[in-house]
Amino acid sequence: MVFQYDFMKQITLWAFLALIGFSTATQAQPLTISDSAVQAITSARRFSAKIPDGKLYGEAIRADRLKWLIDTLASDAMQGRETGEDGQRIAADFIARQFEEMGLPPVADKKTYFQHFKLQRDSWTELGMTVGEKNLKNRTDFYVYPTSNLANLKAEFKDAVFVGYGIQDNNYDDYASADVKGKVVLMYAGEPQLSNGNFLVSGTQFRSAWSLDWKKKVQVATRKGASLVLIVDPEFEKNVRENRRELSSRGWRPAFSGEAGASNALANNIFISEEVANTLLDKKAGKVAEALAAQKNGEGFKAIRFKTKFEVQLDKKVQTLAGANVIGLIEGIDEALKNEYVFITAHYDHLGKVEDVVYNGADDNASGTSGVIEIARAFAQAKKDGVGPKRSVVCMLVSGEEKGLLGSEFYVDFPLFPLDKTVVDINIDMIGRIDERHAGNPDYVRDRFGPPEFGVARNQ
Ligand SMILES: [Zn+2]
Repeated sequence: MVFQYDFMKQITLWAFLALIGFSTATQAQPLTISDSAVQAITSARRFSAKIPDGKLYGEAIRADRLKWLIDTLASDAMQGRETGEDGQRIAADFIARQFEEMGLPPVADKKTYFQHFKLQRDSWTELGMTVGEKNLKNRTDFYVYPTSNLANLKAEFKDAVFVGYGIQDNNYDDYASADVKGKVVLMYAGEPQLSNGNFLVSGTQFRSAWSLDWKKKVQVATRKGASLVLIVDPEFEKNVRENRRELSSRGWRPAFSGEAGASNALANNIFISEEVANTLLDKKAGKVAEALAAQKNGEGFKAIRFKTKFEVQLDKKVQTLAGANVIGLIEGIDEALKNEYVFITAHYDHLGKVEDVVYNGADDNASGTSGVIEIARAFAQAKKDGVGPKRSVVCMLVSGEEKGLLGSEFYVDFPLFPLDKTVVDINIDMIGRIDERHAGNPDYVRDRFGPPEFGVARNQ
């Protein structure tokens, strides 16, 4: 693979400088405001005469150092940097050492450069449901999300309560005086709608949050001590089709841990078809249908207890692995603006190795990682010279990207700097190659997804 190391020119440092309020008063730019207004602004800027051209630092980004960084990150020693594997930890260490050399303060976990996170993958090993003598079929009669069922379950159930739509709101309560402790609750997905088209809970034609977030209902049932929640899904086939991936267990996701895990704990919950619901309700099926019809006409609803008999077995395995984001901070020099954050990010993880073959990931994304490291170095140097950026700049290299953008997701869930003060994130992915149209002229900003005329050429 041939790499073009001139890509430093592509790094739109000028854009960064402008964005973070770097003082670049010396460059002549086309003006759209009057000269006197410009003069007023210029004279109001402190230090404007003394601050050197930001170009100084842009040009300090050196091709040979970028090449060295890419060679190191993409070397076999880094084993393809797969999240959770040794190679990723070696790469994280290496990046942290770069930040340390620049003199950046360690501001992440326990005063290190690392924000550690855990990923989890839940997969079903056994899924079974039996009503009477009949074995029901997964995805034909019922479906279950592995990530929404924290505990395994093997039990026989006899007592159940039909709780309508399972909603408990300010002016509306499907539970009323029903005691569901230790019982199975059966509820419909969605929310009650009157025959005039309005939804009962909102009193308007708009659905309430109860329709949009089914877990809200499971939370209520869990709080009331239900041992299992069965949700009747009138759109069963469609939902199985659309959620195949989440139902199967393939993906990694941020792991629940500690208190977050406990507060997210839900009673076991299974979606069933209307047919299965009617089998479970047996003789009470008619009564349930009547109650729902009456509700449509604005009559109140009362929970219906019923006897039934079925068995459930849910067994899953949980795999975990650990990743880390690596974070370097260049604190802004402006007293007010330093509380705002400009992020420059890239993922440093790649696909690891399969047997003896290392997927080195030079372009994807040792290149972007090296770009971020060198941008950090330029800002660190500028700051040492007393001309640092006004806003704080956070250079973050994330992992877990190849497994589903999970390092960045984790950061957003557990931010180290306030998200509402984070003004922008510039993410860099794969800057190691020049496309064919620009061969021999690497000085451009590539627009990967748009037509050629949308690509912005610079310095022509
Ligand atoms: Zn990538």
